[in-house]
Order: sequence, then structure tokens, then C-alpha cells
Amino acid sequence: QQAEIGLIGLAVMGSNLALNIAEKGNRIAVFNRSPDKTRTFYAEAGALQDRIVPCESLEAFVAAIRPPRPVIIMVKAGDPVDELIATLRNYLSEGDIIIDAGNANFRDTIARFKGLEGSGLTFIGMGVSGGEEGARHGPSIMVGGTEESWKRVEPVLTSIAAKYKDDPCVAWLGENGAGHFVKTIHNGIEYADMQMIAEIYGLLRDGLGYSAKACSEVFSLWNTRRLNSYLIEISETVLAATDPVTGQAMVDVIVDKAGQKGTGKWSAIEALNLGIPATAIEAAVAARSLSSFKTKRMDAEAILGLPGTGRIAGDADAFVADLELALLAGKIGAYAQGFAVMAEASREFGWSLPMPTIARIWRAGCIIRSQFLDEITSAFTAMPDADNLIVTPAFAAMVQETDGALRRVVASAALAGLPVPALASALAYFDTYRRGRGTANLIQAQRDFFGAHGFDRIDGLDKHHGPWGSGLADF
Ligand code: NDP
Repeated sequence: QQAEIGLIGLAVMGSNLALNIAEKGNRIAVFNRSPDKTRTFYAEAGALQDRIVPCESLEAFVAAIRPPRPVIIMVKAGDPVDELIATLRNYLSEGDIIIDAGNANFRDTIARFKGLEGSGLTFIGMGVSGGEEGARHGPSIMVGGTEESWKRVEPVLTSIAAKYKDDPCVAWLGENGAGHFVKTIHNGIEYADMQMIAEIYGLLRDGLGYSAKACSEVFSLWNTRRLNSYLIEISETVLAATDPVTGQAMVDVIVDKAGQKGTGKWSAIEALNLGIPATAIEAAVAARSLSSFKTKRMDAEAILGLPGTGRIAGDADAFVADLELALLAGKIGAYAQGFAVMAEASREFGWSLPMPTIARIWRAGCIIRSQFLDEITSAFTAMPDADNLIVTPAFAAMVQETDGALRRVVASAALAGLPVPALASALAYFDTYRRGRGTANLIQAQRDFFGAHGFDRIDGLDKHHGPWGSGLADF
């Protein structure tokens, strides 16, 4: 009996994904460039060995898979993917499907898709979320490629995806780079979500003087309510952990420098390219960069001193109640921005990205899984072409309910001198987006003054320049 699917690349992600595929009843052929990894993988596969065909040559690997052959590649992102595709072209045949399941930039995916045109092979760019654990026990899977190639892999992918209740978290999202693009925006939203949680933690720790344990208790309570999510749950857990070396709270001995591998940055770059504000994601990426300037920040603190009062004034319990609503409001801003970026990309790249489906497949198997995504799914199901999440009836009501708390939190943080860049950016986004008459009329006047760029008049009259003569003449 031939294997239903093949997988190349048996490092952490590939091995876990292969075990998941085998465990769900699918026969799988596996190959790794260095054969010792294939041997170790097979030796440790235990009861799943029956469904695994370990291969030490690409000839044997290809022969082991039922045509048209879906071949997942889970190798180091970047050049290795292109090298492997070039090699596989010599072994695969008409109709076979190369599936890149690594963290690729969607622009590379589009280029790889195009590169295979006319070769008889097709390409799927597949975003796989949820890290090692997700790969092993059920990831959220975002697929981009032709509909025909999706049909070939749909049964296997459906069997291995995370399930939200009984609903599998996998979907075909569109052609070529659609899957990797959506995965990128997922990661951007993840950055914003994590940053906002960290800002709330900062207000509890520095503004109210809470211990890590007290912060953990706050998150524990919130996790039983509307903020119920994987990220709040793990925040509760890590804040409660004790350092075995010093006996202090574990978080208190961790250096405050955040790492990043690049997908958050890609999200922000694509938002800028598309002209869609994703300020909460940008703030989160910038905050990680600023966090890495540890020495510079310490030097600046010595020169400038800390700003503000340092403490949140007033009733601490009322402030903590506000924090819960402020975090909810901030999340609404970040997700609204992420979905708006996807809507524009969908138009730009011709993908028809299905918004309710995207929210649906993020409800399990990925880092941003939450009850909140269920509400986004409902909102977009009711109004799939909404311009922005915040104008759907359900979310408009939530913004109105929560933005007062966000405003008080951002104002108190500013007075205390405690930085909340992502929360503040979400507030500014709401305040700008909901204001029919803004201030860009002045910018248009300035642009016309120095560059004769012209402007539209509110009365529609046909006069497109101001009465300032040639501004440049006086320059
Ligand atoms: P690595 O990124 O460490 O890559 C190692 C694997 O790539 C090995 O199997 C290695 O083979 C193979 N490889 C490297 N170069 C080549 C080449 N030129 N030709 C063939 N094979 C090659 O593996 P990970 O499992 O950590 O990650 C795999 C992918 O998954 C990456 O794209 C990564 O970004 C992504 N990832 C996704 C995560 C998620 O949450 N979705 C989390 C972590 C990673 P050999 O043994 O012979 O060296």
C-alpha cells in the first residue's frame, strides 16, 4: 500500500507533523537530507511505525507515495526551500504537489508558485501555526494554492488539524501566497496581543506594585471570563512559576529583552505597503526592538530619570476592572487592523480571503486561540464584507462598552509615565477611525502651499488651489 502523503525535513516541526499525520491513520513516507535523522525518527516512532515509510533516497521516497503525490517540505526557511524544490523537480511527475509548510514570506511563496508554472508540478504554501505542540497534536492550517491541489490534500489535512469543538481548523484560503500571508498576519496579531498583555502586566507591577503572583491571580480570573484565551492562560502560568535557583518569581529574573524571528515585522511592512494602518502591530514590533536596547535604556534612565508619578492613583480595584475592559478594547483594535490588512491584501492579490473562515480556523491550534475569535467569527459570518470589524453591530457595541476603560487606562498610564504603546495606538485608532471630520484639511492646505498638490473642497466647488499665491516663492 502506497503512502497518502510524503514529508521531507525531520527536524522538530517536521517530525511532529509526521507523527501527527501517522497517528490520524494516514500512511506517510518520510525523508531527511541527513539519513541518521530519518533512522532516529523511525526508531522512536513506536506504534506508529506501521504507517511510516522511512526513505533514505529521494527515488525510494517518491516511489512510496500515491500519485498525484503531495510532498510536504518542512526544512529551514529561505534558500534551502528553493534548493529542495529544484532537486525535487528531477524526481516528481506531472500533477505532484510540493507543499511548503515552513514559515515562508508569502512573496517568496508567490515566486515559487510562479516558478513551477509550466513544469506540471503545483505548489501549496501552507501556514502551520501552534509551534511544536500544534504540529504534534493539531495545528491551525492556512492553505494557499490551486483549489484542485487543495482537494487532493484536504482529507489528510482535515484529519491532522486542531479541532474547535468538532470543527477542523484548516481551510483553503485562496491561490498562491494566501495561506502564508494569513499566517503572517496571524503572527502580527500575536505580537500585538502579547504586547498588550505585557503592558497590562507593567501597569499592575509598576503602577500598582503587584507581585508576579498577584498578577497571575488577576490573569487567572480574567481567563474565566471574556478574555479567556491561550495567551492569558500561559501568562497566568508563567507569572506563578518560581525560579528554582533563587526562589524568586521566575519572571522577575528574566531579562526584559524580547526576541523576534521576523513575521511580526513582515506583517507591519505589508500593512504599510498596502496603506492600511496596523498601528497596534507596528507598536508591538517597535516595542520588541526597543526592549532589545537594554543598555541604552539603562543609560537613558540614568540621564533623563523616570517620568511621571510612577504610580497609578486612586482605587486599585476599580483600575484593575478597567484594565480587563481596556485589554479587550485593545484586542479589538489589533484584530480589526489585522483583518483590515487581510481584506486589502485580498483585493490587491486577487485571493477572495474568507474572513469568517479565517477567524474560525484560528479558534484552536494556534497561539492566539481564544473565545474572542468565536465572536469575530460570528461578526464576520453575519457581515462578511464589513469594511472593518469595529463597525459590525456586535463589535461596535463592544467598542462603545470598553473604550471608556481604555481611555482611562491610557490616560492614567501617561500620567504615571508608564509606557503602553500598543494600547495607546488602539485608542488613537478608534478615535481617528470614528471621527467623520478629521484634521487632514490642514495637511492638504500645507501640501497645496508648498507643492501645489491641490485639494478637494467640502462644497465640491471646482477650485483646487488656495489663495496663497506661490508658497514656494516666499520659501
Ligand atoms: P529547521 O528550521 O531547524 O531546519 C532543519 C531542517 O531543514 C532539517 O531537517 C535539515 O536537514 C533541513 N535542511 C536544511 N537545509 C536543507 C537543504 N538545503 N536541503 C534539504 N534539507 C535541508 O527546522 P524546524 O523544524 O525548526 O523548522 C522547519 C520550518 O518550520 C521552518 O520554516 C521554521 O521557520 C518553521 N517553524 C514554524 C514554527 C511554527 O510555529 N509554525 C515553529 C518553528 C519553526 P538536515 O537534518 O539534513 O540538516
